[in-house]
Amino acid sequence: MTPPPNSLEARDIAVQVHAAVDHRLYEETGGLVIEEGEGIYVFDNTGKKYIEGLAGLWSVAVGFGEPRLVEAATRQMSKLPYYHIFNYKTHGPSVELAEKLIEISPEHLTKVHFTSSGSEANDLVVKMIWYRSNALGKPAKKKILSRLKAYHGVTIASGSITGIPANHTSFDLPLERMKHTLTPDYPREKLEGESEPEFSARMAKALEDLILAEGPETIAAMFAEPVMGAGGVIVPPEGYWAAIQAVLKKYDILLVADEVICGFGRTGQMFASQTYGITPDVMVTSKQISSSYMPLSAILMSEEFFAPIADESHRLGIFGHGYTASGHPVATAVGLENLKIIEERDLVGNAARLSPQFLGRLKALEEHPLGLWSRGVGLIGAIELAPGATPGATGRAVQAAMLEEGVIARAIGDALCFCPPLIITAEQIDAMFDAVTRALDTVAATLSQEA
Ligand code: PMP
Repeated sequence: MTPPPNSLEARDIAVQVHAAVDHRLYEETGGLVIEEGEGIYVFDNTGKKYIEGLAGLWSVAVGFGEPRLVEAATRQMSKLPYYHIFNYKTHGPSVELAEKLIEISPEHLTKVHFTSSGSEANDLVVKMIWYRSNALGKPAKKKILSRLKAYHGVTIASGSITGIPANHTSFDLPLERMKHTLTPDYPREKLEGESEPEFSARMAKALEDLILAEGPETIAAMFAEPVMGAGGVIVPPEGYWAAIQAVLKKYDILLVADEVICGFGRTGQMFASQTYGITPDVMVTSKQISSSYMPLSAILMSEEFFAPIADESHRLGIFGHGYTASGHPVATAVGLENLKIIEERDLVGNAARLSPQFLGRLKALEEHPLGLWSRGVGLIGAIELAPGATPGATGRAVQAAMLEEGVIARAIGDALCFCPPLIITAEQIDAMFDAVTRALDTVAATLSQEA
């Protein structure tokens, strides 16, 4: 339906270029205008209320309308709205947040650099890895590995490590130095009779084969999300991370854990690296670091990773990198207050406590006529739906029906993905899945009429 002339929707179509849409389709449909948010809910411009089942973009941990974050931003805005961290300058909010991150993260991560988005952070980690290989006198060690279906962002470098075709096609990506190995999607990709540990061993073998084919001396690092998010919520099978890390260690390849979705409690522990026994050389965080109230990301690194980079900058007289907004005082002040709220309200514990109910409700959907298999950990999960005539058609239909029922969640292909704010309660989880079940019933009824 074309929006009425002069409506916000029509004005939007006239002037704004959107993300992740078919631009020509958008000209016909316009977008849903979200006007306000409160707790786990958002409201559109007709006043209709939705449960935000994906926490915005997997990110609003403390919920919408949190006054303490507004106050933290206002306080910092009044005192020092902007300063940078270039040219031997610093400021309090960036130092305090860096200290907090080091306090709550795995012990060997001792240095932090701030950026403003997940893409920017991963892009910079690629640059730092190249800079470091040069510093170490290994200029050939530059290739970067990741997995098919991985999501690490959309800049030229981070988009190249992303393993999703839509983010590559017609953009002339990926860059040649980026190579992709198999996706650890056990339910979909397992062989007949293959156990999870056997599957994990096969994934590790595929990684090793790729490394040997490319030449181990040419490979610098592997990037990986502990739990894959935008690829459709893919939870690692038993033994996966131990097997992968053993291969990387054998060939002196760095591991970058992309905790942009997982970090700050999503899996029921502060970081998914803790949940899965991952010891990354670099950990990339964003999203829940500020509950997305301000654009912010943080790269946490070990001393061993940082030292050659520091030495190289000393040799050259400068580390020739930085953004105007790196370590932005308002963003870092909001980030610090947000992490205090996560700690004080024990939102990581809340995710762990409510996880069995959340995953149980997802599992129950396997019994629905449209349901196939569910997966998840902590408060992130998905239910795979039976595909219709074309791949993704069922997912799109249920996503639309959920919207009618007042739930915003993401269909990725035919998987319905959920990642609600960490403040969600047991009652709200039930309300969300009751509405999702009604949406599935509606779509199933339509399909049976069409059949
Ligand atoms: N890494 C992961 C794991 C992500 O999920 C995302 C965003 N969904 C990014 C990186 C990129 O972050 P941004 O959109 O802030 O660039």
